Amino acid sequence: MIDYHLHTTRCCHATGSLEDYLAEAEKKQLREIGFSDHFPLDLLGVTPRAPVTMEASELEEYIKEVEGLKSLGSNMNIKLGIEIDYIPGTENKLGKLLEQYDFDYVIGSIHYLGDWDFTHPVYADHYQDYDMDSLYDKYFKLLQDACRSRLFDVIGHIDVIKKFGYRPANDLEALYIETARLLRESGTCIELNTAGQDAPVGEFYPDPQLLEVCLSEGVAVTMGSDAHSPEQVGRYFNEAVELLKLSGCRELTVFEQRKRSSIQL
Ligand code: ZN
Ligand code: FE
Ligand code: FE
Ligand code: ZN
Repeated sequence: MIDYHLHTTRCCHATGSLEDYLAEAEKKQLREIGFSDHFPLDLLGVTPRAPVTMEASELEEYIKEVEGLKSLGSNMNIKLGIEIDYIPGTENKLGKLLEQYDFDYVIGSIHYLGDWDFTHPVYADHYQDYDMDSLYDKYFKLLQDACRSRLFDVIGHIDVIKKFGYRPANDLEALYIETARLLRESGTCIELNTAGQDAPVGEFYPDPQLLEVCLSEGVAVTMGSDAHSPEQVGRYFNEAVELLKLSGCRELTVFEQRKRSSIQL
């Protein structure tokens, strides 16, 4: 099993050393892990209300620290990833920035609608100000733009808009199909992200319906725990693999220097 979504203390809301994450991955007998901490928002010209990403000055150190972990001689495959906020209007800037770094893969995530961090528990009551059908539509349209940018290898926690349990009244099948086709056409993968199980919504990202649509449209899949502490590495992976197999998924996508290949699930 692979866990491609691990954070570090640099984002200010995670705990534990990289060695602790590695030790937990070894304990859980994973074959490959990837760190994907939050890319500095200030490099995109965005200042969040509270620090939720590493700072620009920490990026080089982050890269060095992950590279350093590889040289400790573990049998684990260790990859250098990054999780980047998709902020519309920053595509050119981000494209140029990405040329400067040797990431194995780039996860594009949406945590912001305008200046609202809708994934942050402190701002969760703002959901009450919205109509859920239009909010979900807005979120998935933005996600489709993230695919069109072709900046990302993987979309992070694809339906994180459900995190606090607010659901639309309408069926989302058509929106899901449209999104899945864009994912496939742009060569963007999704991740089976198990963190949602521990969020108020209490289920993985994506939900079974969206997962099924993605798989039937031929979208490739990686896995991630979105661990913000060492014991979360590989959380619920047995259940997740079971679900993927039941959904007809036969392989997982892995990355090296942003080149994709697949391994048997
Ligand atoms: Zn985080
Ligand atoms: Fe995220
Ligand atoms: Fe994350
Ligand atoms: Zn995440």
